[in-house]
Amino acid sequence: MTTTYTPDDPAYLDESDLRVELERVFDLCHGCRLGFDLCPSFPTLFDLVDADDGDVSALTAADQDRVVDECYQCKHCYPKCPYVPPHEWQLDFPRLMMRAHGITEEGS
Ligand code: SF4
Repeated sequence: MTTTYTPDDPAYLDESDLRVELERVFDLCHGCRLGFDLCPSFPTLFDLVDADDGDVSALTAADQDRVVDECYQCKHCYPKCPYVPPHEWQLDFPRLMMRAHGITEEGS
């Protein structure tokens, strides 16, 4: 499990760990689609994955970053998501986007 939502975690700023976690979470979101009408990030994600025949692993880093860039941290997806902790999938989309923003902006 690569869920890393706390900045104290040594892997928090590890981009390769982040990319694996983005792929895991994007795959779960693509399968569920509850967030389809909440913001631009989810429709972009679903369009990108659908264009690759549902294969989330085909998304490039630039594709992932586009989804991240379109998140404006409203947090509306958190209460709607059925997979937030204590669910075993430990999904926290806003925190993951915050982590990704920190890494991709730091690297640019
Ligand atoms: S927190 Fe980000 S991903 Fe979640 S609904 Fe708001 S803008 Fe979309």
